Amino acid sequence: MREAEIIRKLLEIYSKTPKHDDGYILGSMTTRPDEIAVYAYNLFIHANAGDTVIFPAIEYFRKEIIDFMSELYGRCTGFVTSGGTESNIVALYVAREKTRRKLVIAPETVHHSVIWAVHLLGMEIKYVPVNDNYVVDVQLIDEIIRRKSDEIAAIVLTAGTTEWGTIDPIEEVADMARRYNIYLHIDAAYGGLFIPPLYRKGYIKTNLKFFDGVSSISVDFHKNGLSPIPSGLILFRDEELLSYARRELPYTLGKHQYGLLGTRPGGSVAAIWAVIKKHGLEGYSTIAEKCLDIALYLYEKISKINDVIVWKPVLPIVVFKHKTIGSGDLLDSLVSHGYYIYRAPSIDGLRIVVMPHVTREHIDRFIETFTKILKEKAEQNNKG
Ligand SMILES: *Cc1c(COP(=O)(O)O)cnc(C)c1O
Repeated sequence: MREAEIIRKLLEIYSKTPKHDDGYILGSMTTRPDEIAVYAYNLFIHANAGDTVIFPAIEYFRKEIIDFMSELYGRCTGFVTSGGTESNIVALYVAREKTRRKLVIAPETVHHSVIWAVHLLGMEIKYVPVNDNYVVDVQLIDEIIRRKSDEIAAIVLTAGTTEWGTIDPIEEVADMARRYNIYLHIDAAYGGLFIPPLYRKGYIKTNLKFFDGVSSISVDFHKNGLSPIPSGLILFRDEELLSYARRELPYTLGKHQYGLLGTRPGGSVAAIWAVIKKHGLEGYSTIAEKCLDIALYLYEKISKINDVIVWKPVLPIVVFKHKTIGSGDLLDSLVSHGYYIYRAPSIDGLRIVVMPHVTREHIDRFIETFTKILKEKAEQNNKG
């Protein structure tokens, strides 16, 4: 095919691809990346982040990214990954190598990538129940530690659970981890950029940072950070922990690499640098407040619909379910109206994630469609 023909075909396929700004992607934790990040990504598309001798710019960007994250969370180090999944695998690998133990303690709300990491690393997981607010019970963690402290490789908590957007009690568990000298990893893939500003402004009661006792934090920039996929970060509290994530690669000029991937996208590192320079702490605070504001607007709207139960959002994720109509049934109808909404499997509910591209107009249109669907279903039931 000639290039002009390829482009024509590409554009044809692209035109049929859903776009975030259309307002129908309301479940996925993805958004339209910032143009400056796309520019930076493309500029460094040739750079292999796995070789910082050939591409010292990557190391320059990394250091500046770490400076930014240290401002947000307190002094730390780390590197750019392909996302939360890689970051969680790396964190548990480091915990396993450091402790030479296998047991991972995690809330039952933990993200699937942590379960995957545990399998991959030949580790074992012990789930801890969550309370009515969908956060882990600190008392239960304490009991497990007392019984098994010499078997535990790591405790994993979530700062922004995938299903509920809730935040586990980081500070309390960090204090236990410090006292018992246990590795504590915080999976903040979704909530990492939202929690510190929302805490500072008083919207939420739990903060996220390197409290004494926190060993690592993972945070995604391709979620609320507005960087293109793949853009994640794994952060460690010190260089000693980071050193466990290092792999020798003697044939390269740098002689070593970090993380799971070999050749890895330098564009992602440049893109994260670009978005943090553009938005800064202030900019991310504004985005977080805007998303939460729209999520609360959605919550208010859904609470006015008859026979629908809705949970008040902590971070901008709104979970709801109908009292009698099953969520699978509702989801089918919503999908047939063009909506992409995800499930909240633990309660057979649905959830909307208010990402940075979502507007009040999108919410209004969704509510209109949702109300119409419920009305039609009620009429069908009356006839039947
Ligand atoms: C999104 C997410 C992950 C997985 O991250 P990817 O970037 O999709 O690999 C892990 N944990 C949590 C809490 C998440 O929200």
